[in-house]
Order: sequence, then structure tokens, then C-alpha cells
Amino acid sequence: MDPLKLPVKYNGMVDPQQRPRHSGIPTFFRAPHTEDLAEVDIGVIGVPYDGGVTHRSGARHGPRAVREQSALMRRLHGTTDFAPFDACRVRDLGDCWLEFPFDLAGALSEIETFYHMIVEAGVMPLSVGGDHSISWPILRAVGKSRPVGMIHIDAHCDTGDDYLGSRFHHGAPFRRAVEDGVLDPKRTIQIGIRGGKTVADHWSFSETSGMRVLGMDEFQDKGWAYAAAEARRIIGDGPVYLSYDIDSLDPAEAPGTGTPEAGGIRAIEALRLLRALDGLSFVGGDLVEVAPSWDNGTITSFNGASILFEILCLLARARSAGASRG
Ligand code: MN
Ligand code: MN
Repeated sequence: MDPLKLPVKYNGMVDPQQRPRHSGIPTFFRAPHTEDLAEVDIGVIGVPYDGGVTHRSGARHGPRAVREQSALMRRLHGTTDFAPFDACRVRDLGDCWLEFPFDLAGALSEIETFYHMIVEAGVMPLSVGGDHSISWPILRAVGKSRPVGMIHIDAHCDTGDDYLGSRFHHGAPFRRAVEDGVLDPKRTIQIGIRGGKTVADHWSFSETSGMRVLGMDEFQDKGWAYAAAEARRIIGDGPVYLSYDIDSLDPAEAPGTGTPEAGGIRAIEALRLLRALDGLSFVGGDLVEVAPSWDNGTITSFNGASILFEILCLLARARSAGASRG
């Protein structure tokens, strides 16, 4: 079927992704939308759910905002010339929308069911939240056949426990994932950790379970290249998931988030850190906690989209290297 408007000079514009970036329906990266998993290598998925937030809500609107800003991403990586859309079939799978959002544990179970389907179809998931509680059900799917390692970039360890009567809020997903045997704590590194604690042992599970916690003071003293080298040392050759909480960035560059912490990672440091992780055996990733209603303009969703593109390149390299399954 021919497009409604055929190009008269620039024939490449038959492909909607080649058209002017301000045109078209805003899918992630202007990639084609599909719900047919058979034609997908990497599925970019919105998870518009923020029932797990402990303070400022609004991350349910993250996927829309990041889709809109991801239109600014181009086809090739500016430094490496890598073209993820040529390496893999990258598709926007739409949203993991929820039928029963008012029950936190039930909602997360619904998300888990969705992601089992994605993983069993051989699709590598790249998700956009949503609050960080969504990473636990995703890990239960991604780590089902064997525990995965994780590179976790965040102001918070998210290894807490019960809070106000729930164990499944956005400050606890990685404790739950370790308990479930889907996340290997000894192959997990947490980068950018800072801010106050409610109690002295607030994040002690990270240390006692064997995670490498690379706090913000150490990051600032030693830099992004050191953090990347530490991540590579901890992760090794095995399968690894990448979870990126936008509140790891300094609030000056990411004010639009639920639990900001002063003194964070700069966007340029985040981009270079991610780029330096190239070649690891990624099996999936997510970007969470973009809350547009707290944003100044679109700075948070734009920086989020830029980080998402770096993560897409990491996943596409792993996928095209054949490291994504197993
Ligand atoms: Mn988090
Ligand atoms: Mn956080």
C-alpha cells in the first residue's frame, strides 16, 4: 500500500522515520509501531504506571513525554556512527497498559505477565516507566531462566523493604528481585547513590547481599570512566540488565522526577558512562521515573530520551552480536 503522500524528490521519505522530525505520530524514536512480536528484535515499551511512588506522583505520564522528545533523536549515533535501526528491527510496541491499576501487587503481576510474553517471543525489551516498581516484574521475566546481573544508575539503591504496609513500592524492586532469584546481587552495581536516609541501614541490603554500591561522592572523585570500568569488572561476560532512574541526574538537568536528590550526575557524564558499557551482554533495559508535570519545559524528558537512545545502542549491539538469548 502506498503512503498517502509520496515523496517527489527525497525518496527515502517513504520511510516515516526519514521524514522531518516534527512530523508524524510520536512513537519512540519514530520507529514503526506494531503489536506483532514476530517482526521485532527490540521492543520499546511504555509502562504508564506510578502506583508504587512514595512521594511525588506523575511518572505514569513518562512514556508519552519521552516518546515526544525521542523524536529529536537521529538515526546514527553521533560519536560511534552506530545505526541501531539498521542493526536490529526496533519497534514501538505501544504500552503495557493496566487493566487493574488500583492494586499495586496485582498491577505488578499484570506487568510481569506481559513481559513473560515479550521475553518468550524472543524480543528484547527496552521499557520506559513509570515508577521504578515496574523493574521488579520485568526482571522476573527477563531473569526467569537464570539470574541476570544489573547496572543500576540511580540516586537511590531501591533495595528497601516494607514501607507503609507494602513491599512492592518503587524503593524496593531490587530487594524483591534478589529474593526471587532473578537478580544476582554479586553481579550488580549501583551508581550515583546519594541523599539522605530514613534510618541508618536504609540501603544495607545492597551491601549485605554483595552489590557494588558506587556512591555519588566516589563517582565525582573518580569520574564516569572509572564507573564504567567498575561496571565492566562487576558484570563480566554474563547476561546483564540496565536500569536507569532519571533521578540519578542532577536536578538541574532532570527536575521532572518524583524523588530528586541534589548533587547528581551530569547528562554528559551519563551519556559517556553508558557509551563505555558497549559490548556487554545486555538482555534488556529501562528508563524510569520521568514525571513530566514536575519538569521545567521538557528538559527531563529530553535528557531521558537522549539516555534512552544510548541504551538502545547498547541493546542493539548486544542483540546483533547474538548475545541476547539464552
Ligand atoms: Mn529508582
Ligand atoms: Mn531514584
